[in-house]
Amino acid sequence: MSIFKKLSIPVLSSVLALAPLKSNALEGIVSNPLTRGGLPNQIVRLYQGEVLKDSIRTDEDGHYNVNATSVTLPEPNLPSLKPFEYVKLEDLLGRKIKTLNQNEITRDIPRRYDLPSGTYFLQADNGSAVQFTTLGKNNIPFDPLFSLEERAEELRESFKNRSRIAGADEEYTLDVNDENTPNEIGGFYGRRLQLEDVNQDSLNVEMMYNPEMENINGMLDLLIHLEGGDEGEYIIDNGGSYPNTYPRTVFLDSISCYRHFRDNEKAEMYLRAGRSAMSNMRERFEMDDYIIEDVDGNLYEISNNLTAIINYTNGRSRFDPDSSIIYINDGFPLENESELENELTHETLHFMGLGDSYDYDYTIMGNSWPNPGITNDDATAIPWRTKVTNHTNLLNFYED
Ligand SMILES: [Zn+2]
Repeated sequence: MSIFKKLSIPVLSSVLALAPLKSNALEGIVSNPLTRGGLPNQIVRLYQGEVLKDSIRTDEDGHYNVNATSVTLPEPNLPSLKPFEYVKLEDLLGRKIKTLNQNEITRDIPRRYDLPSGTYFLQADNGSAVQFTTLGKNNIPFDPLFSLEERAEELRESFKNRSRIAGADEEYTLDVNDENTPNEIGGFYGRRLQLEDVNQDSLNVEMMYNPEMENINGMLDLLIHLEGGDEGEYIIDNGGSYPNTYPRTVFLDSISCYRHFRDNEKAEMYLRAGRSAMSNMRERFEMDDYIIEDVDGNLYEISNNLTAIINYTNGRSRFDPDSSIIYINDGFPLENESELENELTHETLHFMGLGDSYDYDYTIMGNSWPNPGITNDDATAIPWRTKVTNHTNLLNFYED
């Protein structure tokens, strides 16, 4: 007991000594919300104002770690970044482990120098630097020589913008991109996040993939239309984040349906269309997030935003978020069953948080008549939108 007490003081003080170094670091996982998988090899850049402070590629698990203070930028009067001659391998505290020449900058550095698990820096004599984290003798998860050269190129660009340098109180920006080709979307859209400060425990970044679309320029465009609503409403509102607020249940009360229509054929059509709409959504969106239940005459009190009930109206079909009731126009003639099904789908998607698309019609959320139903583009975009974290701002994504 007493030995532990004696030991605890020096151990604690060395932890405290590390704290200031760690305080400007930011780490997290870059992922695809659709698959929940981490994305390797994404370029993560940390800017303060317009000045690039650090950049790194994510490892196999999509993990990144950037540091606002780890990299010493070359002096402003340095004319240009020459190719480097040697590179210092340093530990987290900046202690030199080894000086390496260009040929020695390879992915197996951890094994060659017997490095314990941890974070290290490669600091080139021309100011370019990269950081890596290794688990024991595993290879560096990216090509360090390529990254050092990439980083040198970025610093050269950064010098050109030197006149626009701002003060130390400028906001940080975290920029994540899947490739270095400007103006090409690549496999994923770029994403840029403003940060109040970099002293956060972790910051995970969800990316938007870039699938082939049939009738629109890209998935981002369609998602912006799907938010609908007024100008500037580009923030996804799912009424809660996946998976906590899913699946959602839609109640279909067959007894009250027969009672409302007093016409068995009509009531059966409405029940059939309701069930078909839900199973079609499950199939097209490849998710079990829409469940329909027949409540057999028991009208439930809706007490949260995860359940809705289908009811009928002689007015316009609409979803009322306050009562969580999906009102469906009761005037559909028997020959318009598929239009009725589209209407039920459209209103149910309002319950999922989607808006109306006023200026683009080729989507289930458009307002043209007849409604095209769930388009292939909807089937691609809506699952991503449903799984991304609630309140994601679509304006953070860009075509690069
Ligand atoms: Zn609508």
